[in-house]
Amino acid sequence: MSNDSKPIVIMGAGLSGLAASIILAKGGRKVIIHDIRSDSGARFDGDFQGLENWTTGTDFFDELREWGIEPNEFKSTEFHEMDLAHPDDEITKPWSPRVAFRVVERGSDKHTIDQGLKRLAIKEGVEIRYKSKIKPEECDIIAAGPKDTSAVAYGEIFKTSFPNHVTFQLNDKLAPGAYSYLIVIDGIGLICTCLWRKQSNSSRYLNETINWYEKNYPELDRTPIKRVGGKGDFAIHSSYKSENKYYVGEAGGLQDFMWGFGMRYAITSGILAAKDILGESDYESEIKSRLLPKLKTSVVNRFLINRVGDRAYKKVAKYWMKHQKKHGDGLVFMEMLYNWGIFRRFIYFFANLGMLKKGVTKDGRSIRRMPFRKALKRDVWEPSERAIEIGQEWKEIRKDGGKISFSNDSDSNSIPNSLEASD
Ligand SMILES: Cc1cc2nc3c(=O)[nH]c(=O)nc-3n(C[C@H](O)[C@H](O)[C@H](O)COP(=O)(O)OP(=O)(O)OC[C@H]3O[C@@H](n4cnc5c(N)ncnc54)[C@H](O)[C@@H]3O)c2cc1C
Repeated sequence: MSNDSKPIVIMGAGLSGLAASIILAKGGRKVIIHDIRSDSGARFDGDFQGLENWTTGTDFFDELREWGIEPNEFKSTEFHEMDLAHPDDEITKPWSPRVAFRVVERGSDKHTIDQGLKRLAIKEGVEIRYKSKIKPEECDIIAAGPKDTSAVAYGEIFKTSFPNHVTFQLNDKLAPGAYSYLIVIDGIGLICTCLWRKQSNSSRYLNETINWYEKNYPELDRTPIKRVGGKGDFAIHSSYKSENKYYVGEAGGLQDFMWGFGMRYAITSGILAAKDILGESDYESEIKSRLLPKLKTSVVNRFLINRVGDRAYKKVAKYWMKHQKKHGDGLVFMEMLYNWGIFRRFIYFFANLGMLKKGVTKDGRSIRRMPFRKALKRDVWEPSERAIEIGQEWKEIRKDGGKISFSNDSDSNSIPNSLEASD
């Protein structure tokens, strides 16, 4: 860098911005972060998210330690196995002798990953200005999270006595084009449905999904606390550095098109941008060699899944379990899904043309974005009686102060009619 005394200015104190700031401050640079919200993690408010451990051969926490980021600064819960709910309601258990994934909490409570990274940043001397607006032209790193909407997730957080647990459900009816999940950590549960096709009333999918979990996990007691959610922005950018600005995390479209596991890409890209500024590596080529092949693989996987729905989901689930039996390690299947081999390179040509929409950013970079797909005929169905009841129950809880964390937020625009409790 030509001028090492000039502060590095970052837009966004989320995962990617904070990760970049820690490395830069450790490297001796002054860093100022601006965030429009009141705190790091305020976008999520108590949401559980999974930190994947399958897109590289390395455990993510080993990577974090190598970069000088101590993962014990935030709470995480390791999982070696989970329930896999097939579209026909069969439940199987993929597992791994390795840590398959870790669940972390997002939000502004002390133990969240957002607050953990914030503490590490402040310890290194980073200055964070909340409720602060800044123009992109004044920034070196754009880490402002998703801008447009490719998909949404919508969930309910509740108290429960159920033990720690994760279920991952492949079901095109309850989660159009995507999946739903149940996560329980230390007495708090989350049931979430992801919508990869735009629906006019998202709450009907959540209510029906909750009904499914009630039926299939009869011991799951539930005292609802709040509803949470948000959007994801999936895009392939032609370049990740332009006019001396670095685009990191979801601001750079760096998201997993297949499942939406964006946290690892966000942190990794923040670190890589910081290393480029410190003169230790080249951001553009690092992103293109390390992350882009994974992203493109996920584009292909998503393209194939979009074609078929539950039939393909059932095949995926069966194939996963076959692999589990053969290798004694369910992670091998997940790793294979992210292999940028000849088959996926070939299909990518069609996926890129058929699924991604061309666009141009304000600074003239071309992008290929995954649009929020339209609803299909099969997305319209009659809700069950219990799902209607669950919607009514939530309405009552809302009257008594139950919160929807994104209702006054930019994410709310992407979850149409989410305030409606039932159909
Ligand atoms: C409901 C939901 C569930 C998810 N579950 C998972 C999961 O299980 N596993 C996983 O890996 N990923 C998951 N993701 C994706 C993951 O949360 C994101 O990919 C990740 O947070 C992206 O990090 P980021 O740094 O790009 O953005 P964020 O962490 O969102 O940070 C962006 C920051 O920029 C700030 N900001 C926004 N606009 C401006 C502006 N104009 N000026 C200044 N600051 C601004 C925001 O306030 C925010 O603090 C989920 C996403 C959602 C919505």
